[in-house]
Order: sequence, then structure tokens, then C-alpha cells
Amino acid sequence: MLLLIPGPVQTRPETRAAMAADIAPWDHDFRPVYSGIRERVRDLAGGDEGVHATLPLQGCGHFIMEATLRSFIPAGGKVLIPLNGSYAERAARLAREAGRQVVALRGPDTRPVTPVEVAAALAADPGISHVAMIHNETGSGIVNDPAAIGPVVRAAGRRLILDSVSGFGALPFSLADHPECDAVVFTSGKCLEGMPGIGFAVARIDRVEAAAGNAGSWAFDLADVYRHALRAGWGSFRFTPPVQALAAFAVALDLHAAEGGQPARLARYTENMRVLYEGVQALGLTPYLEARHQGPVIVTVHQPADAGFELQRFVDALKARGVLISNFHNTKAPTFRVGCIGAVTPEDMRRAVRAMGEALDALGVRRREAA
Ligand SMILES: *Cc1c(COP(=O)(O)O)cnc(C)c1O
Repeated sequence: MLLLIPGPVQTRPETRAAMAADIAPWDHDFRPVYSGIRERVRDLAGGDEGVHATLPLQGCGHFIMEATLRSFIPAGGKVLIPLNGSYAERAARLAREAGRQVVALRGPDTRPVTPVEVAAALAADPGISHVAMIHNETGSGIVNDPAAIGPVVRAAGRRLILDSVSGFGALPFSLADHPECDAVVFTSGKCLEGMPGIGFAVARIDRVEAAAGNAGSWAFDLADVYRHALRAGWGSFRFTPPVQALAAFAVALDLHAAEGGQPARLARYTENMRVLYEGVQALGLTPYLEARHQGPVIVTVHQPADAGFELQRFVDALKARGVLISNFHNTKAPTFRVGCIGAVTPEDMRRAVRAMGEALDALGVRRREAA
């Protein structure tokens, strides 16, 4: 089965094979694997030893995002969130339910937020301490650019939290260029092509030290994750980690490096996206985004107008042809979504487009323009 969803992604056999062992997390053979992962993802984030630290948390992306929002934004503090997609809405809900004040900067989910919009929102409210931005908006497929927004946040004397859960490892980003960034957040199971199970914040140590007492939660306190590392070592966990997912992640990082790192991964995903984007157009379908706003991670496509189209039937027909896509959409307009990330190639994408054509024919979908 070809898995074309934006996480968990298709993985390589070597990565999956690393899971097939029982491991004690505190064992002296495993501790260096874990501390090595922390160093390698810090380096991937453009972090510096002594300036930045990798703070992992068990669980999914929402967990590490909640922990980051709680840890870096003081209780009752104010955060500006560019709301241009469904993952931004999720970040806003996490912040709100953690008792932070959310200032919404609403925009369409068909283009990135602009520096002018962020600068104006920050100028209008000096009480905002942080901007929390989604890097790759997995709802629609647009990319909010930290290289454009970061300098505006910096100039306004505010702090940035970057949710790069679906971009990190493929989209360019370096903490070295972003002193305004408290933390960049990502997980094991998206562009780094590991198993799901662990989230990471690579954060500024001075900001983590200042974060003590903010979280209002022991489990979600990244300042406590940091203190624990100082006390017990960088190969040590506070609570039981998903050790097999970590063992697999170490292999996934090897494969990321062997491929040529972030630039090579971006190039492969971009080509995957291009084959898919042009392929669905050739089938008579309408991509949700204009080509100039289409990012490399996920392509969303308008559901066809034909009354014979029904998303679950389309997904089933594709699955019968060896391709699995999401059976839901996260855009306001009805769409279907296809991931371009994971251990998949442009050739796989050509196969997927052929399968889509066959599935649409089998369902008798003739009117394929947007509903
Ligand atoms: C996947 C994703 C998350 C986290 O999702 P989980 O299902 O909790 O792992 C957060 N933000 C973005 C942008 C994502 O793509």
C-alpha cells in the first residue's frame, strides 16, 4: 500500500525494522542513542550547543505544541496567531484552553500570512508577547515563511514559536537566523520519516530557564524536561518514552542525512508535489491552491462537481488500487488531500495519479471541475 497522507507517513523498511526489539530506556546501550538524537535534531534546527536544547515529549504533535505554548507564554499572556488554516485553529484552541489570550489574525487558507499583516497586528497590541505561527499549514498546503515573518517579530521585540510539525526536515529553517524564536516544534513521524510517537521542541536555553513555573502542568512542562536533563543526563527520560519509535527515529535520521539532508528532501517532495499537482489538473480536477502558493507537503484538490463523487467511495476505490489517502478534509470548501511526504518518489506519484484516473472512471465521475 502506498500511504499518501501528511503523517504518519510511508517509512523505509530499515526504519520499521529498528522497531523489532525490546529495549529498556534507561539501559546504557540505549541512552547514547537518545542523547545522540537530541544532538542531531538540534543541529538540524540550526541550533548551537550551549544556546539551544532539544526538549522531547512523548506523544503526538498536539502534545508538544501544548507543552511549548504553556512553557514559553506566561499564564494569562497574550499570543498572536495567524489563523490561515485548520492547524492554526488547533494551536489557538490549545493556547486558549491553557488560559492564554489568543489574538486572532484571520486570513484565507489559500495564501501565506504577510509581514505587513503581522507587523500591523503587533503594533496594534503591545500586550502581545509571542507570535505562534504554523510553518507548513497542513490544512490546505500553504507555507507561512519564517524568513519573512521572523524579522518583523524581532523588530517588534516579540518572540516566535514555530509549529513546523509538518515542515521540519524538508522546509528550510535555522534557529541561527532567528534569535527571536523561543522554540521550533516538530515530530518524529512527518518529514523526518520516522514512526509517530515523539515530539520535539528545539528551544533557546535562556528562554527555557526563564520559563520555570509557566506551564501549570508537570507533564507538559518543558522547563522541567530541561531541568531533568541537567540532573539525570541528556540520555534520560522523565517518563516512559516510546523506545521503539526512538530506535526507528535514529535510523530515519541516518537516512535523512544519507539522502542529502533538508535540501535533498525538499527537492524530492517538491517534485512529488509537482507530479501530483500537474497530474490532477490533467485529470480535469482543480487544485485548491494557486500554483504560486502551493507548498511541497500536501496537495488539496477540490472535490469534483459530479453527483457521483463521494469522498469515502473515492478513497475506497483508490485503496483497492493500492493508494491510501485521507478520508476527510480540513479546508472550508470540500476537497480531498494527498500527502507528498514520506518515503515516496515521483514515480509513486505518477502511479497514484493513474490510480486516481481509474478510480474516477470506475465511479463514473465525469464533471470534474470544482463543485
Ligand atoms: C500533524 C500536525 C500537528 C500535530 O498533529 P498530531 O496529530 O497531534 O501529531 C501539528 N501541527 C501541524 C502543522 C501538523 O501538520
